[in-house]
Amino acid sequence: MQPSIRERLGLVAAPYPTAESRSDAAVMARSMMYLFAAGAAVTFASLLISPPGTGLPRIAATGACALALSVLVLLVFDRIPVWGFQALLAAGTLLVEWAVYASGDQTSPHAMFYFWIAIYSFYFLSRARAAMQMAFIGIAYAAVLVTHGDAHATPVIHWAFVTSLLVVAGAFIAVQRGHVERLIARLSDAARTDPLTGLHNRRGFEELFDTELERARRGARPLSVIVCDLDAFKGVNDRFGHAAGDRALEKLSAILERAKRRVDTAARIGGEEFAVIAPDSDQHAAYILAERMRRDVRERFAHEPYPLTLSIGLATFPRHGTSAESLIGGADEALYAAKKLGRNRTVVFNPEIAETLLAVTGQPAPRTERYSSTVLALAEVIDVRDSGTAAHSETVGRYAGVIARELELSPELVERIRFAGIVHDIGKIGIPDSILGKPGFLSNEDWREMRRHPEIGARILRGAGMDDIGDWVLAHHERPDGDGYPEGTHGDEIPVESRILAVADAYEAMTSDRVYRPALTADAARDELRRFAGAQFDGRVVDAFLALMEREDTALSVAG
Ligand code: GH3
Ligand code: MG
Ligand code: MG
Repeated sequence: MQPSIRERLGLVAAPYPTAESRSDAAVMARSMMYLFAAGAAVTFASLLISPPGTGLPRIAATGACALALSVLVLLVFDRIPVWGFQALLAAGTLLVEWAVYASGDQTSPHAMFYFWIAIYSFYFLSRARAAMQMAFIGIAYAAVLVTHGDAHATPVIHWAFVTSLLVVAGAFIAVQRGHVERLIARLSDAARTDPLTGLHNRRGFEELFDTELERARRGARPLSVIVCDLDAFKGVNDRFGHAAGDRALEKLSAILERAKRRVDTAARIGGEEFAVIAPDSDQHAAYILAERMRRDVRERFAHEPYPLTLSIGLATFPRHGTSAESLIGGADEALYAAKKLGRNRTVVFNPEIAETLLAVTGQPAPRTERYSSTVLALAEVIDVRDSGTAAHSETVGRYAGVIARELELSPELVERIRFAGIVHDIGKIGIPDSILGKPGFLSNEDWREMRRHPEIGARILRGAGMDDIGDWVLAHHERPDGDGYPEGTHGDEIPVESRILAVADAYEAMTSDRVYRPALTADAARDELRRFAGAQFDGRVVDAFLALMEREDTALSVAG
């Protein structure tokens, strides 16, 4: 929108400019307009006091030209480019030159107007451009003095005085301007920095995130944002005082600074909330970074009187969103879920699954749906950690769903069982890498640890408001013959949903490569199911699955 005449005159405050350069141009134009107008006014005023007959038309013409330049600036205003300002200043210089020349007096007071031009140039233009204006004035003024053909020393001295004064005044203005600019830069840095930790504050974080997001977009690179909130931090303040809390926050910021890579940026975006911007990082890389931060914090605070832990949520561009708000919102949501899932953990946001979930689970309460998406994302992360692919859980979910359909369960139940299949191993988040990734045989100790995963999973799912699915996951390693775990429940006491999960899980496991053995063929896997039906697996569930696969001819078509 064009500034109104009242805005151009500076009578009303202009609306906040969208681009800094535009506001600069407006200020420059307004100052120049008033400079020319003032020059015109002074020139006209001199008419009143000069004795009659001393070049009245000449002086009036000079004033009129100055006025005309002022009106021109008013009209074009903030659309004047930088070279336009330079051209206008040069025009002003020529006008002064003409006024001095036409007056026939080398020491004409009109030369004082050169100061106006000098001050304006050094204040608004770069030093190089201002120096160019000064050189032009020097040459123009020398030319006037020379054309008078006067060989006296006076004009030379006059010239030397005027130009040296211009240089001194200009240099002074330039130095002052540099000083003010540095001060402003310091103040604006301070406005983006958190005084306690020295990290970026919320404002600095948001600005930087916008910049990084733009860069990621242009380079088609991923970008992750990680948000962390200290767990139960209020308790630290309550028990040890606010000062101890502040020290903990400082220590935490130092830990984050050390754990992140050089290209990442850490920020304190709230009282005890921190964020890290991780350029060039997809969700898996960001997850690893987040887990490193979480581990470092846990370890470095382990010996303090107040052990502190972090809950972390993360979201990745472009996978989880393309705007700053959606990404930060997504990471916040994942953080929220991390808190609800029991704190001291990292949760990856995943809205794509959230959408399918909405279609799939009927109308879940908004809360439940929200958790589900993060629970599903968690399942994917576990897959990657467990087997290096993100496919196992998805496939188990698909098998479980089709078996449930074959058993003619209600469509809602079918979808919930499919979901349960995807999240059945979620409890493995609690199992150390050293056990999950171990090639070869597990020790008894390892097995005891490994067998905790159904319980951990059930706790997570119940915590997320999915009690039924938690119950099924708890029992997905039970066996009809009572040899399963964790309870050793028999036959029909095991929920049918769990018995479906067991078959789906086993078939998927048998038909995919593992660290310790290659995949079985579909036929061999089916023989295994048949062989253990009634003992390890529920006979009815196995029959349904086999019938389904026979009908569909190949195991692969079960994918539907
Ligand atoms: P949780 O996040 O696990 O749900 O529990 P919490 O106790 O951390 O709860 P919440 O995030 O709601 O509380 C934030 C607390 O952080 C409140 C306040 O005591 C503390 N806090 C916030 N800003 C500061 C700060 O600048 N200095 C100190 N010392 N404490 C702060
Ligand atoms: Mg908080
Ligand atoms: Mg907190």
